[in-house]
Amino acid sequence: MLTLRFRLVLARNRTLRIASISAYHRRAENDLENEAASITIPPVNRKFDVLILGGGAAGLLCAIEAGKRGRRVAILEHADRIGKKILISGGGRCNFTNLHCQPENFLSANPHFAKSALARYTPSDFIALVEKYHISYHEKTLGQLFCDHAATEITDMLNAECEAARVQLFPKCKIREVQRSTEFVALTESGEFRAPILVVATGGLSIPKMGATAFGYDLALQFGLKIVTPRPALVPLTFRPKDRDDYCDLAGVSVQVVVSIGKESLEPHSFAEGMLITHRGLSGPAILQISSYWDGSKSIRVDLAPGCDVTAALRQGKVRNIAAMRSELQGILPKRFAVRWLDLHAPAKWTNQSLEALERQVHEWIVTPAATEGYEKAEVTAGGVDTDELSSKTMECRKVPGLFFIGEVVDVTGHLGGFNFQWAWASGAAAGRTV
Ligand SMILES: Cc1cc2nc3c(=O)[nH]c(=O)nc-3n(C[C@H](O)[C@H](O)[C@H](O)COP(=O)(O)OP(=O)(O)OC[C@H]3O[C@@H](n4cnc5c(N)ncnc54)[C@H](O)[C@@H]3O)c2cc1C
Repeated sequence: MLTLRFRLVLARNRTLRIASISAYHRRAENDLENEAASITIPPVNRKFDVLILGGGAAGLLCAIEAGKRGRRVAILEHADRIGKKILISGGGRCNFTNLHCQPENFLSANPHFAKSALARYTPSDFIALVEKYHISYHEKTLGQLFCDHAATEITDMLNAECEAARVQLFPKCKIREVQRSTEFVALTESGEFRAPILVVATGGLSIPKMGATAFGYDLALQFGLKIVTPRPALVPLTFRPKDRDDYCDLAGVSVQVVVSIGKESLEPHSFAEGMLITHRGLSGPAILQISSYWDGSKSIRVDLAPGCDVTAALRQGKVRNIAAMRSELQGILPKRFAVRWLDLHAPAKWTNQSLEALERQVHEWIVTPAATEGYEKAEVTAGGVDTDELSSKTMECRKVPGLFFIGEVVDVTGHLGGFNFQWAWASGAAAGRTV
């Protein structure tokens, strides 16, 4: 091995020297590269009890739980460090859980699937871990818990827990293929890794530049599992051309709204939060939330003035004109948006009937989005490995014993507000306590 390393160093030094000389030597350089390539590096052949693919939130929690039970665990992560998404989450402060976490805060083809794991690893369990490391945190709004300082505190904590549980981390580990014979074999650019248990925690497709891949879905298909078609969720929506022309110059304006989707008679989904106009369409928490329910064609309904009777003064008073209506609406909505919205919706005549119609429109502004902003801007990926394929208690595949899927790669998607991490921790713990 020493000899091999030595030869590699020699080869690298020679390459550097040659590169600095001239094109004359290019052939020699090629020869040298061929020589280096022909050196056979003995494959790293490592055997573990559990292999976890992906060192994100779910993979780390699973590894910690399994390691604590004495399992020899390896995490194979293709990025240069673990937990990269945790670092950018919650604006760098990681909204690590939500105090009000309920199964109703999750979307899935099977709304009951997440219940078991969520009940067995609750927000209090993760909070206890955070407190054990003296990480200070606060509730921002609606039960959302954020670090006071930085998300690195969470990754440092998870790293420390991995170390204590003797979990072995393999960053920069590119997996070429997974095979299964009597055990699982991950063929990587750093050698072979073997274990009787394989946990897939490679996340969804959101933010490809952070290392997101379709690897988990491909692996599920390789083992004959069904997939619920993935789609971007918690994502800004874009306007159709007419709305873009009408509103996009107001980019930056935000409004407190209630946004809904679905027939009112059939339990619509609705969210009372902020909405932001962007250069391309709509964003802000209310829109991100509703985007997870948007099917690519439906309209969304926006109540621009929840709980307000915006036309009351005009209906009761003597002055009925656009100036009076503007002044009413400006008391409720940001001025520029109120003026623009009224320019586009004001009735020709100010009759009782038209005022009632205007009132309805304010509470039910119908927007038919053109599209979402896609995986580049989506916080999560909805859809994923079909929950019918997995045990809700352990996350193990029914058809393939020893194969587990956890976290975002599974068809369970949380609302905005710390729910996605709670699912990652809970599903990771469910598997980690079993493997
Ligand atoms: C900008 C942003 C902010 C967010 N903020 C929050 C928040 O504040 N609160 C919240 O609850 N949720 C938040 N989320 C969502 C949350 O980050 C995810 O739901 C959560 O990280 C999912 O955990 P996971 O372990 O399943 O997947 P990930 O965290 O995505 O981890 C998957 C890991 O697998 C690795 N991987 C992928 N493919 C391979 C491969 N082929 N080989 C080896 N490794 C691979 C990836 O590099 C990654 O490290 C945010 C998401 C984004 C994008």
